[in-house]
Amino acid sequence: MNCSEFKKYSLLIDKVLDGDASSKERGLLSKHLAGCATCRAHYAQLKDSMAMLNLLMTPELPIDFTKNVLEQIPKEKRRLFRRWTAKHPVLATMAVCAVPMSLAVFAANRQSASQAKNAKGIVLTKASR
Ligand SMILES: [Zn+2]
Repeated sequence: MNCSEFKKYSLLIDKVLDGDASSKERGLLSKHLAGCATCRAHYAQLKDSMAMLNLLMTPELPIDFTKNVLEQIPKEKRRLFRRWTAKHPVLATMAVCAVPMSLAVFAANRQSASQAKNAKGIVLTKASR
């Protein structure tokens, strides 16, 4: 990190991404981002991780599910969560994918179990003739 005001702008980035920043604050941030590669990279990373999470969660859940859940999480925890997902994008993706994947595995197991039942039925029917 080679931005002497990183902490200040990091907090402002959180505020902007939460939609809580005033237009003056947004202007201040965009002015700073134009001249600071460190903060610009940090902003892009957080924004990407948010977009990735939204993309992964939207098809499986109601459109406002993520927003509703995030709204119920206290802001400080929300920021910590966003920072964590930005620092660990692979783990975050795996965690988000784990839910639909485990459902898919569960569904596949049920399906193959019912296919096995049907197969047995066919075998028994053939044998009885
Ligand atoms: Zn900066």
